Amino acid sequence: MEQITANVFVENQIRGCNHGFVTTSDGIVMIDSPHKPSDALKLKAELEKRGELRYIINTEPHGDHWTGNAFFDAPVVAHEGVRERILNTNMEEHVMRVGAFGQEEPKLLEGYTANAPIITFKNGMTLHVGNHTFQMIHMPGHTASQASVSIKEEGVVFTSDNIFCKVQTWLHEANPDLWLLALESLRKLDEEIFVPGHGPMTDKTYLDEQGSFILEWRDYVKGAIDQGMTRDDAVTNLTKMTDRYPMDVGQDGMAPMVMRMCAGNLYDYLTGAWPAPQPPSLPLPPRQ
Ligand SMILES: [Zn+2]
Repeated sequence: MEQITANVFVENQIRGCNHGFVTTSDGIVMIDSPHKPSDALKLKAELEKRGELRYIINTEPHGDHWTGNAFFDAPVVAHEGVRERILNTNMEEHVMRVGAFGQEEPKLLEGYTANAPIITFKNGMTLHVGNHTFQMIHMPGHTASQASVSIKEEGVVFTSDNIFCKVQTWLHEANPDLWLLALESLRKLDEEIFVPGHGPMTDKTYLDEQGSFILEWRDYVKGAIDQGMTRDDAVTNLTKMTDRYPMDVGQDGMAPMVMRMCAGNLYDYLTGAWPAPQPPSLPLPPRQ
């Protein structure tokens, strides 16, 4: 956990999304939660030394942002699409997937019940806790229910997965055009310190690099479609992006799968077969 301003702490060295917490004059607000249950329990012990956890804010519907909510006793705030997605998650499969992350995880997942958002917003909302102001803004792109969270008094914004800094970008359910608009919305924010969804801390100077990578992916798949490539062929053959960035912590070996998912999603998006009826789900770990 790294302290990045007077009251903002960020974790970006472990498997899962970048998550963090803010210490206010009236308790703690956590932004996203650890993916691994054992990491969630470690963080919980750390927070207990610092004060009462008041709220958890989730920035998106993928499991690496909310799985750990369950290990904390605090109400969760998120975009309404995040709540809907969590409530519709096949928890048996979810638990099996997360249980494969380590030896100690299956036991910690016994009786797992997700702590889904009970306070939701559509376009945005502001939460005041102690002397701190948390501003959530809906910024669809990486997913339809993505949101950024600005902590006004600290000059920090948690951008969520609309920024993958120097690690592979997951576009497996992305709308690339909305994503580019989201990057422009991030550019307009007053906050200068960017906590990306994955990868090291960054700032507005990274927006162009993130945008051009998304554009390149979109054009790459569009070129394949224009040449008459089928979806199956596109998913198999469009591999040139694989080596452009390393995978984030704990995602070793997942690059080929992620590239296939990105190519498939962009193919569907560009051919009008989108949105897919079901959100794409990650493959399950092999049964032991
Ligand atoms: Zn994500």
